[in-house]
Amino acid sequence: MQYYVPPVAKLIEQFEKLPGVGHKTAQRLAFHVIGLPRQSALDFAAAIVEVKDGIHYCAVCQNITDTELCSICANDARDRSVICVVEEPRDVVSIEKTKEYHGLYHVLHGVISPMDGIGPDELKIRELISRLGDGSVQELIMATNPTIEGEATAMYISRLCKPLGVKVSRLAYGIPVGGDLEYADEVTLLRAIEGRREM
Ligand SMILES: [Zn+2]
Repeated sequence: MQYYVPPVAKLIEQFEKLPGVGHKTAQRLAFHVIGLPRQSALDFAAAIVEVKDGIHYCAVCQNITDTELCSICANDARDRSVICVVEEPRDVVSIEKTKEYHGLYHVLHGVISPMDGIGPDELKIRELISRLGDGSVQELIMATNPTIEGEATAMYISRLCKPLGVKVSRLAYGIPVGGDLEYADEVTLLRAIEGRREM
């Protein structure tokens, strides 16, 4: 039985496709849209179209941008000898927020995951290797997530890049602030010990 008229059902269906949105939330969002003034609904729809039409990958680091080069690659003040390799564009935002890192980035757009049919060729690894050709990059910081896939991807890239004379380092992961050693899993604890530094 169809509870909603087709346009409403269609909108609910679209919201349901969003990550983390279940059927109930999708219904609530759809009814919110129905209640919006016409202009607000048009602005919402236009923002979705604009982000698809106006955004592409930076020619160098593969981060999302609306210009040829992203603002980080175009910034002469950034340290060009170091590249931080991340899985997704949102990881760049997280690291930028620390204001502690002044090098460049490379966005892989995923991790190697044989279970999902994602191999190295599906990621932006070739683009990363091509950035190492001129010898200006001295260090890669592997900042993929501390998951099995993230670790495997970091390892794969590390093996590819080391013969090119580039230093490869890995983010140290450890006990979260406010965390308790007792509740940390073994991998976290091991990483915390490996990533220790002198006081
Ligand atoms: Zn860029």
